[in-house]
Amino acid sequence: MTPALDPAVIAALRGARHVAALTGAGISAESGIPTFRDALTGLWANYNPEDLATPEAFARQPAVVWDWYAGRRGAIRAAQPNAGHRALVELARRVPRFTLITQNVDGLHQRAGSVDVIELHGNILRSRCSREGVIVDDPAPNASPPPCPRCGAPLRPDVVWFGEILPLEALAAAEDAAVTCDVLLSVGTSNLVVPAASLPWMAAGRGATVVVVNTTAEGQHSGPGIHFAVGAAGTVLPALVAAAWPAP
Ligand code: NAD
Repeated sequence: MTPALDPAVIAALRGARHVAALTGAGISAESGIPTFRDALTGLWANYNPEDLATPEAFARQPAVVWDWYAGRRGAIRAAQPNAGHRALVELARRVPRFTLITQNVDGLHQRAGSVDVIELHGNILRSRCSREGVIVDDPAPNASPPPCPRCGAPLRPDVVWFGEILPLEALAAAEDAAVTCDVLLSVGTSNLVVPAASLPWMAAGRGATVVVVNTTAEGQHSGPGIHFAVGAAGTVLPALVAAAWPAP
């Protein structure tokens, strides 16, 4: 079904010089990757992510944390990008400047063809040394967790855990995009995790058109300059692109 689209949003997209998109777990839900909310009932129901995705949990039970991530990595490797990811690749081709900021750690934007993706929370498919931070692309498969080949310290997934700070360069680039864009799409995020959650507010505060693309408007930013396109990202994003730039 074609979602109802706000004509003001279509006009803003068409006239924009700089469009930014902030994506969250919801955009990958249609690729079969559970969101945190799904995790409470789905595949990871036996674990609370907030109890495992912390430096303290890794220090206490490194094998449990590593194995939990190994399971998530397997699911992510088996998943494919969906129409929502692809629509953002298409959108990037239509506007003078496009910045893609993601809270996701699954790399599906890049696999769909997006470039220069700002990853605020890292990437689950990479590992890094828990002592020195060196990235290790191909860790030995036979240990949980494998040792760093340089110093022997346990490797960890290269993601930002609860209580850790975001990569400063990525955050600065995201904030710069939020204050310079004309349109910001906030896609499939519950906006509970700061500082990412403040980016739509920053954009709206500077007069940008903010478009919330989500299956529910509940708990989302609202106020002047904030528009809703309620529906699944895999349906709404292609519809937005098609409406703003209809095929000749
Ligand atoms: P979240 O799980 O808190 O929220 C998901 C949001 O997506 C909800 O608002 C939900 O209503 C919406 N949603 C669900 N299906 C949708 C769809 N088909 N189309 C549009 N919206 C849909 O996720 P979050 O806000 O990204 O924050 C949680 C944290 O969890 C992030 O830091 C992220 O790094 C991490 N996470 C990442 C992945 C991933 O990489 N795919 C998966 C789970 C969690």
